[in-house]
Amino acid sequence: MTEATGIVGEFLSLKADTDADILAMQCGDFYEFFAEDAELVADELDLKLSKKSSHGSSYPMAGVPLADLTPYLKALVERGYRVAVADQYETDSGHAREIVRVVTPGTLLETTDADAQYLAAVVDGDAVGAGDTAYGLAFADVTTGRFLVADAEDEDDALTELYRFDPVEVLPGPDARANDELLSTIRERLDATLTLHDTEAFAPKRADHAVGDHFGRETVDRLAVGTPTIAAAGAILEYVAETGAGVLASMTRIQAHHGDDHVTLDATTQRNLELTETMQGDRDGSLFETIDHTETSAGGRLLKEWLQRPRRSLEVLERRQESVDALASAALARDEIQDQLGEAYDLARLASKASHGSADARDLRSAAETLGVLPALAETIASSPDLTESPLSEIVDRPDREAARELRETLAEAIADDPPSTVTQGELFQRGYDPDLDEVIDQHEEVKEWLDTLAEREKGKYSLSHVTVDRNKTDGYYIQVGKSAADGVPDHYEQIKTLKNSKRFTTDELEDKEREILRLEEQRGELEYELFEELREEVAARAELLQDVGRALATVDALSSLASHAAENRWVKPDLHQGDDLRLEQGRHPVVEQTTEFVPNDVRMDKDRGFLVVTGPNMSGKSTYMRQVAGITLLAQIGSFVPAKEAEIGLVDGIFTRVGALDELAQGRSTFMVEMSELSNILHAATEESLVILDEVGRGTATYDGISIAWAATEYLHNEVQAKTLFATHYHELTGLADSLPRVANVHIAADERDGDVTFLRTVRDGPTDRSYGIHVADLAGVPDPVVERSRDVLERLREEKAIEAKGGGSSDPVQAVFDLGSGQFSGAASPDGGQSAGESETDEGETIDPEAKAVLEDLETLDVNTTPPIELVSKVQTLQQRLTDRDD
Ligand code: ADP
Ligand code: MG
Repeated sequence: MTEATGIVGEFLSLKADTDADILAMQCGDFYEFFAEDAELVADELDLKLSKKSSHGSSYPMAGVPLADLTPYLKALVERGYRVAVADQYETDSGHAREIVRVVTPGTLLETTDADAQYLAAVVDGDAVGAGDTAYGLAFADVTTGRFLVADAEDEDDALTELYRFDPVEVLPGPDARANDELLSTIRERLDATLTLHDTEAFAPKRADHAVGDHFGRETVDRLAVGTPTIAAAGAILEYVAETGAGVLASMTRIQAHHGDDHVTLDATTQRNLELTETMQGDRDGSLFETIDHTETSAGGRLLKEWLQRPRRSLEVLERRQESVDALASAALARDEIQDQLGEAYDLARLASKASHGSADARDLRSAAETLGVLPALAETIASSPDLTESPLSEIVDRPDREAARELRETLAEAIADDPPSTVTQGELFQRGYDPDLDEVIDQHEEVKEWLDTLAEREKGKYSLSHVTVDRNKTDGYYIQVGKSAADGVPDHYEQIKTLKNSKRFTTDELEDKEREILRLEEQRGELEYELFEELREEVAARAELLQDVGRALATVDALSSLASHAAENRWVKPDLHQGDDLRLEQGRHPVVEQTTEFVPNDVRMDKDRGFLVVTGPNMSGKSTYMRQVAGITLLAQIGSFVPAKEAEIGLVDGIFTRVGALDELAQGRSTFMVEMSELSNILHAATEESLVILDEVGRGTATYDGISIAWAATEYLHNEVQAKTLFATHYHELTGLADSLPRVANVHIAADERDGDVTFLRTVRDGPTDRSYGIHVADLAGVPDPVVERSRDVLERLREEKAIEAKGGGSSDPVQAVFDLGSGQFSGAASPDGGQSAGESETDEGETIDPEAKAVLEDLETLDVNTTPPIELVSKVQTLQQRLTDRDD
């Protein structure tokens, strides 16, 4: 096979020089893809595949018009591909091509998604010889210019941060990329693209230089973060520069994210609490979707960030509360503020577009209008008695208002009222912006005017009817005369075309004017583009100001959103404090209350009652109750009001949740191993100030294993960790712990059993319940009465036996007592001696029961109604019934 030459050869050699997955190469008015790239792109994007021959070989080829590249690029990158873009430029000897940009998920500027789009780097300290911090992380959003760094103590901590920022692309450092477990977690859990960037970029010295040069040495020193973190930041800066996104100018400041300021929310907890998506992966029904009433995308991003990074500082939270409180009571002013915010444009995104050089005149016009929103908000706040005393006044005063006013005026005086979206063809500026431009515009307008009135003049002069003057690509400007009048045109008219009903003419004068207008158009386009680029650079240089104003608007937006939700849903301001007490009067679940007639519940926890064992029948509301506590605590720690009649909330340093493996198994998400490693993580990471939610932990293994683990974990959490804990369990044995552990209290979700019917009351009461209502479910499912009766009987016996052993069995160890129950299998209960033969056995009433019936009963007894999915349960019960019926035949 011969080596490809010509255009395909050029494509292949450019491709060989990049580590991008796909290359888009400009060929005149198209971007073309060849060979494998063409096949891949055609497949992914439904493009038509054609063929290109090169020296006897034929190559697949696909292409998109120049102007249409963006949506294709976006679609490919969103699918996780890295796409290199090679542009064509003129040279003395023709033209050449060069890769100008590599677009990756983390450097995509063309996003239309309102979400933050983080590019992350994670560095293992071992790789850079750091002593103090184990991991370093950096996060950059090229679309807004945000740049954050964080130290992490260990791998779990690093993962927690990664999960918090939810990056779309991750650059693992030299050591981190050898850690297969870390990489697969990033890929699977975060669904992020992994990019193995040049290891040199992570070298501590080089990174330190890069970061110091970009953000200023003093700033970097003030951050006080570890070497691995600086390495991560440096690698990101270099990567962003190398991919050619050209947005470094919008990265005006670097901020350190300190874990201490924030509530720890590990990855599992964020998912369990359905912060931004439900367990099923839907955005709808998440806590964020429920409380989000923001008007702007920047406000939405900020509110989401608050939810993902709740705070621990009482001061910060009380300030937010004050604003929310003020806005909640000032309904009219709030409406006005939200209307004003409705006009606002995404200034952080604009700063980034200006730096990259992709902002057009409409963007700058919108920026001017948005800069005007700030004083309007300030005015509304100042004139509302409720708001003027609140921290809102200070929020809108934080940006440099004078500089913002100047920039706004500059832009408003510069940009035309309704500019076009192209920036190369003029009509971008107002008169009076630039004297030279005004002159060109005057001349241009003059010629335009001459052309516009030519038809009228000619009509009058030569008594012609049906005369028009127009232009098109092939004929240029022409005078068109209707056929009937065409014979009467003057001699100096030169015919250029005959059409069905008319003829086209030109004249020397018209040709002169045509040359003039073309020259002026070009001149005007070039001059305006030049001026526009200058102005855009001026705007790019004000990136920090734009970000400040954007931030202030977003903050007011997020606070107003919290206020609206509070006002509309009768949420109250929680009383926050640093102690242990948690008191909710008539609390509700923030999301479930939206769709369900919710039965409110009280919660009372304090120093002496720091561990609640929650029992109750299946489906009674245990999980909901506990999530409600976690959700309310979390909302309180973003400064929000909460769904309750009254709330007093002790701040926590972390929220940890674990949902039993079976709930998770049903979604194919977990194994018992995962359940245990998450339990282990909680036992290690939770502190006295944490909130721990354990939902049916231990369920993923055999009963006695499970009870033992749950038991021991409870003791450990109670005695050693001393975290505020709620533990829902179907192991009623655990309710006995309240007797031996002082801070453990039992609560149960009440159900009413009357005439054999169970009604869930959804009300939480003190004390344990000892019923799982499984037999009731069996009854409902139509299990024959004798079997149901018999089950009740067996259960009774099991209980008695347990009571006897627990009392007189000599064993004072409750776990032992539980294990002793192991002898109480069905057969054992019927006949404590065991040793059932295959023959008929006798029940205590002296009835006989045949072996098949007994086998059915045994199967029924071992059928775990709590863990079997309902459909399976029904079918199993049907099988049991069938076996009994078959036996009768
Ligand atoms: P459990 O964990 O005890 O099996 P869940 O918490 O999953 O029960 O709740 C079962 C169902 O009851 C859910 O559909 C939930 O929405 C509803 N529910 C729970 N608590 C309440 C309540 N207080 N008011 C109204 N509905 C509730
Ligand atoms: Mg549950």
